[in-house]
Amino acid sequence: MSLSALRGQPRAQRLLLPLLKSKRLPPALLFHGPEGVGKALAGLEVGKALNCEKPSPSAEACDECRSCVAAHKGIDPDLKRVNAQYQAGLREEEAERQRTIRVDTVRHLIKDVEMTSLTGRWKTAILEDAERLETEAANALLKSLEEPPARTLWILVTSRRERVLPTILSRCHRVPFGTLPETELVSILKGCGLPAPEAARLARLAEGSPGRALRLRELGLADGEDGDGTPLAPFRLADRLPRELHLARPVAEAQLRRIAWRIRDKGRLGFPGAGASLREIARLGSYLRSNVDPRLLVQLAALELERFS
Ligand SMILES: [Zn+2]
Repeated sequence: MSLSALRGQPRAQRLLLPLLKSKRLPPALLFHGPEGVGKALAGLEVGKALNCEKPSPSAEACDECRSCVAAHKGIDPDLKRVNAQYQAGLREEEAERQRTIRVDTVRHLIKDVEMTSLTGRWKTAILEDAERLETEAANALLKSLEEPPARTLWILVTSRRERVLPTILSRCHRVPFGTLPETELVSILKGCGLPAPEAARLARLAEGSPGRALRLRELGLADGEDGDGTPLAPFRLADRLPRELHLARPVAEAQLRRIAWRIRDKGRLGFPGAGASLREIARLGSYLRSNVDPRLLVQLAALELERFS
């Protein structure tokens, strides 16, 4: 893959391709935008292109040379993807325990990029979830962001730009990423081998994020439907909702809509109290955008539906 093959991110491509071609890159880039839209992947493409032995006329990676192949395999020592797994490896701990980016990790990276590369290659460090930098870690990073050694590129990646420390933000050149149109997302999912109806269902739930779509599929929430249609099914769905809010929210939203339809149907059949229940579902829906656990909201909505069984 090359940077221009990145789907649905024309703005980021317009900013990045000329930078690559000129090889005049700012010391630090900040890739920001929704989760699962290809920010880290774009970072890898940039790092790969910088060291490609046979770059295209537009300075993109060839995907075939020794350097590109090493980058693909994740064994290029000059291209680092720094995330929970990376830090877990350094600390000899489990990835789940890495909730913040620690100062030791940043110091390790700085030491690494400062080692003069004898081959004259670029060194790229992609820092995922940059909002998780501890204050001390951020402070350690500041100097390197301002005056990095030659041919060093820091790419900070975040889907929560508002949580990145202002001192870090002000030193990065920002590259915005956006959500993908639903048609583009369907086409990507079909390209991954998903049957068209499943691709369409997932694309509706995933709010423009291919990463989110694939994760929902992994979690068995592709249709978010209550399978056999029994009144208890929404409870089962609530149990299966993931802890990550950004994944659980769209599925819960679809489920609340579905429950509202069923209550509306009951109302048409003359069941009393449907109006009040629908107002309750609408109220629960409004909480979805706050920090209330979507699982709880789906359970409460399911209880409303139970009144009509
Ligand atoms: Zn290459």
